[in-house]
Amino acid sequence: MRRQKRRGIAERGISTVGDALAWAEEQLRRIDGARCRQEAEVFLAGLLALPRIELYLNRQAPLCLSRQRRLRRWVALRRRHVPLQYLMGEAVFYGLTLKTARGVFLPRPETEVLVERLIGLLKRLHPGGPLRILELCAGSGNIAIALTKELSYCKIYISDISRKAVALARKNARAHGVAECIRFFCGDLYQALPAGVEPFDLIVANPPYVTRAEMKGLPPEVRDYEPAAALCGGADGLSVARRIVRGSRKFLRVDGYLAMELGESQRERMTAIIRQTAQFDRPEFFADLNGKERFFVCRRAYG
Ligand code: GLN
Repeated sequence: MRRQKRRGIAERGISTVGDALAWAEEQLRRIDGARCRQEAEVFLAGLLALPRIELYLNRQAPLCLSRQRRLRRWVALRRRHVPLQYLMGEAVFYGLTLKTARGVFLPRPETEVLVERLIGLLKRLHPGGPLRILELCAGSGNIAIALTKELSYCKIYISDISRKAVALARKNARAHGVAECIRFFCGDLYQALPAGVEPFDLIVANPPYVTRAEMKGLPPEVRDYEPAAALCGGADGLSVARRIVRGSRKFLRVDGYLAMELGESQRERMTAIIRQTAQFDRPEFFADLNGKERFFVCRRAYG
């Protein structure tokens, strides 16, 4: 009896766009109070293939039963913390809409800060000239695709250990018309590259950098749904980053740059790792939009 009543409430009143919006917002409040309205709008806009802003002109429009069903399914999954970007099958990065796939790390807005900095640096150093870039741990290809959009003359090699990620990156590059600027390799960091590849002008990575101990404390969206291999960088979070720095000896040319995203408390340890290779200038760290120093760029000064 009670169960039936509860179901009755949950199933009432989503037959118009306006009612469905209000219902979804209410259902999602528990998941993310600050963004429940926005998420409800994303769902409805996705269902109706309309820009979000137009939902409000269509508030009275009826929502057919199959769309109502799809909305209920999405909301139920979202209430179990499945990330919105997996449910919608896309994420926006640097103004570009990219496809997402379960099992592949989602692009994060903070990484846009790194992309912006690199575009500024590369435009200054290589205005129009040939430019060879290597992106490691490339995931859905977001960094590489954003770079090629701004630096149409660059050639980017990307590598990721996940076959699924490489396939997704290729699909995204094709969708944005930049697949000819990018070569795709699946494997463990530099080992994925073909033999005899020439050194690069820039090596960039957003590697897994969460420590093993921090993994438990991640939001359920991340911890339970994104691939651990793309998140966890071992006991100190730097096991992959360390291998990237060491391997750069062979793959980065003198005067080339190494750039990475890191966790907020890893600056000192990273600086020590870079110093140990004795080939780089002092790294320049810079902050994300919350003022946390999360990125660095450094120049390879010696051979
Ligand atoms: N910043 C990400 C998170 O905590 C982790 C990113 C990464 O490991 N590259 O969600």
